[in-house]
Amino acid sequence: MNIHEYQAKDLLASFGVPIQRGKVVDKIEDVETVIDEVATEYEASQFVVKAQIHAGGRGKGGGVKFSSNKASALENAKTILGMNLVTHQTGDSGQAVRKIMITEALDIESEFYVAITLDRVTSRHVVMVSTEGGVDIEEVAANTPEKILKEWVVPGFGLNVFQARKLAYGLQLDGDIFKQTVSILMKLFKAYEKSDANILEVNPLVITKQGKVIALDAKINIDDNALYRHKDIQEMRDIHEEDPMEVEAGKYNLNYIKLDGNVGCMVNGAGLAMATMDIIKLKGGDPANFLDVGGGASVETVKNGFRIILSDSSVKAVLINIFGGIVRCDRVANGIIQAVSELDLSVPVVVRLEGTNADIAKDLLNQSDLKLLTAGSLEEAADKVVAAVV
Ligand code: GDP
Ligand code: MN
Repeated sequence: MNIHEYQAKDLLASFGVPIQRGKVVDKIEDVETVIDEVATEYEASQFVVKAQIHAGGRGKGGGVKFSSNKASALENAKTILGMNLVTHQTGDSGQAVRKIMITEALDIESEFYVAITLDRVTSRHVVMVSTEGGVDIEEVAANTPEKILKEWVVPGFGLNVFQARKLAYGLQLDGDIFKQTVSILMKLFKAYEKSDANILEVNPLVITKQGKVIALDAKINIDDNALYRHKDIQEMRDIHEEDPMEVEAGKYNLNYIKLDGNVGCMVNGAGLAMATMDIIKLKGGDPANFLDVGGGASVETVKNGFRIILSDSSVKAVLINIFGGIVRCDRVANGIIQAVSELDLSVPVVVRLEGTNADIAKDLLNQSDLKLLTAGSLEEAADKVVAAVV
């Protein structure tokens, strides 16, 4: 789960990380008051207005505006609040800005990049820093990867101070700035670990002209599987920022991820779902989604799965691939028949049921007067569904 910049900053502050301070506002009529509060509480005379959306690249898309006085902050707030912000991470359709942050403006001397994530290749956490902070870190990673310094951490062992020092040396820091940075790196790692984050990114971490090291931006993604132990973070969820179909699927405990293709997939088991997407690709098709309906695959699950797959208008054919291990195939077949007869089906559906009572299931599907295509092997199913796409 992603959280907003203002929430991520609150989280970091609770671990003692110095942040660029600000307040969040979602109504245009409250903006002036908030600007006044920021001016008084943080002794700010210049401000930054920042769109709060989950996607990055806001600055380049026009969602972060430096404002040299209260009047210009108000003007910028009027422009940004409610705008449809398009960045390289939102896709062409953009994202509506429902909240903005009004922050104190900092006098920036230099900008660094800091990120912590899981390195799946080494099965360790990796702490990355770079002198090339700011808005173009993707280009740095692509063209001059040697400018990104890394330290790996064995899960459970924490970041060692010598590693934080090594990174700060790598950034060519010294004196008090060096000390502040080491302390911040240690706190960032603690925040990452204690909140079960997948990614914690501070881009940029800035050194101000006054000699302070401060997190100017913050992006945190929390591991969904660990959310149950972070009630406070759960409350930060903003479903406006999530794919509506994924939100809907979540209500029924369906594991759904929208993709760009046109072959809808309904599968039980994540591994089988991945294999199904692979073989569709291999046969020249393109999966429209990942959908794991879980072990049970009851009538209700199948129905909800169908509804969600079919609400995606790019779906031109559906492949149902269920392995009857715990669940019997004849029961699944009945579920499919009931679901299909209740729903108004406009696209071809290929069904492959394998496992316990697969033969009975096939007979049931063939005897129903519904236009379902059946398949024996996974390969046959993939061939049929790719051919069925119109
Ligand atoms: P992002 O574009 O979504 O990553 O948004 P950021 O919060 O990182 O802001 C983008 C850029 O705006 C930063 O890299 C800074 O160059 C600039 N910026 C943001 N806040 C300030 C500030 O307080 N002072 C100055 N001088 N620039 C700022
Ligand atoms: Mn940033």
